[in-house]
Amino acid sequence: MARVGNSIIKGIEIDEVVNLLNRAYADEWLAYYQYYIEAKVIKGIMKDSIITELNQHATDELRHADMIAGRILQLGGTPLLNPKDWFTQTNCGYEEPKNFDVLAILEDSIKGEQCAIETYSKLTDITKDKDIVTYDIVSQILADEVEHEEDLQGLYEDISEFKEQIKESLK
Ligand code: FE
Ligand code: FE
Ligand code: MG
Repeated sequence: MARVGNSIIKGIEIDEVVNLLNRAYADEWLAYYQYYIEAKVIKGIMKDSIITELNQHATDELRHADMIAGRILQLGGTPLLNPKDWFTQTNCGYEEPKNFDVLAILEDSIKGEQCAIETYSKLTDITKDKDIVTYDIVSQILADEVEHEEDLQGLYEDISEFKEQIKESLK
């Protein structure tokens, strides 16, 4: 544990930061798996470009889990050791893909990103001016989640529009 490094944390309990980070850690693993499996089962038009995006996001979520695990360890905590705990600790849950159509998959993922943005926005509020190092990490992750939502929303709109055009052309 970083003894002097942790002495600069003011106005918030380290245990509380560790607990909040572990909840986000659970979210990241579930988000990683959700993207991973979505990229495998997805069906429908323009699916190749979406698979590329889903796989990029999976990589980002795993990197986020890694960033958070590193910070938990620095704080003297232990990242969740059992995947069972992911489901009890998660903020955003896990959206099991039930409909494999491109738009349904994108909707599930957009929902997940919106929850992630809310979670990290709260974490920045909680750590601001109190735990600068955690604040920096959760801010970086927040920026990625905002980008993720934007990317998926853009794809969703492109595909919806493309489907409309096809419908029109068939009239
Ligand atoms: Fe993430
Ligand atoms: Fe994300
Ligand atoms: Mg992206």
